[in-house]
Amino acid sequence: MRIVVSGAAGFIGSHMCDRLLADGHTVVALDNLLTGSRGNLAHLAQEPRFRWIEQDITRPFTIDGPVDSVVNLASPASPKDYLEHPIETLEVGSSGTHHMLQLALEKGARFLLSSTSECYGDPMVHPQVETYWGNVNPVGPRSCYDESKRFAEAFTMAYHRKHGLRTNIARIFNTYGPRMKLNDGRVVPAFLDCALRGEPITVFGSGSQTRSFCYVSDLVDGLCRLMMSEERYPVNLGNPSEMTILEFAEYIQRHPGVRGVYPADYGDAVDIGV
Ligand code: UDP
Repeated sequence: MRIVVSGAAGFIGSHMCDRLLADGHTVVALDNLLTGSRGNLAHLAQEPRFRWIEQDITRPFTIDGPVDSVVNLASPASPKDYLEHPIETLEVGSSGTHHMLQLALEKGARFLLSSTSECYGDPMVHPQVETYWGNVNPVGPRSCYDESKRFAEAFTMAYHRKHGLRTNIARIFNTYGPRMKLNDGRVVPAFLDCALRGEPITVFGSGSQTRSFCYVSDLVDGLCRLMMSEERYPVNLGNPSEMTILEFAEYIQRHPGVRGVYPADYGDAVDIGV
């Protein structure tokens, strides 16, 4: 297939490009480099089945030639990034997604949207099932991301219902792996950064909050399988086994060079010692 990937220079986008090329596809990679990095794709510079276009998908654009699949991964995704770029985050989920949907319709291509577990907001149901509609604050600090992705999901379903577009929606849970920025702000790179620098790890709150961490190649495998499936409603993608943040900190602490695990200076923090 000839596949257009937006957000291609991002953490997940660059791994998606690698996987699609390894599977024998041709990739047209789009990114405006707002939060992505050209370095994530540098190893593909000589790849004849790979084409790079620096493009902001919130602006109108055209792609020459046939397209079989459109994969929409463009968005700031870490809280640090979307809090710094709230307007761009809302625009890429709305007009950016619209342009990618239009491209898929014009080309007769299938369409895959990367959405997020943030669609569930501050959930009242654990674990979150796809049939749960969420508990979302439309005006909170994270709303630029949550509502952008919820709007993108609604846009995708509208194109499916109105135009019969072959669409898929992936709700991505915490994912980690190579090319994640160490200063990304999320817990896996934050703890690894502390460990690598020999600094104490900071656990926010009691550390009893749970998360599950999915390795990026598993996530990309899920995206590829979903893209080929007949499922039109959102599908959660992630690791089903949860651990507490404290357990994760202790796991990192067991590795050489890590000085200790300290609570943050607020909330019901507990000191688990060095
Ligand atoms: N967290 C932490 N220390 C850090 C960074 C994060 O204890 O240095 C906690 C954070 O409060 C949250 C969990 O780890 O409970 C996961 O945070 P992250 O920002 O990675 O993802 P999200 O909250 O979006 O799942």
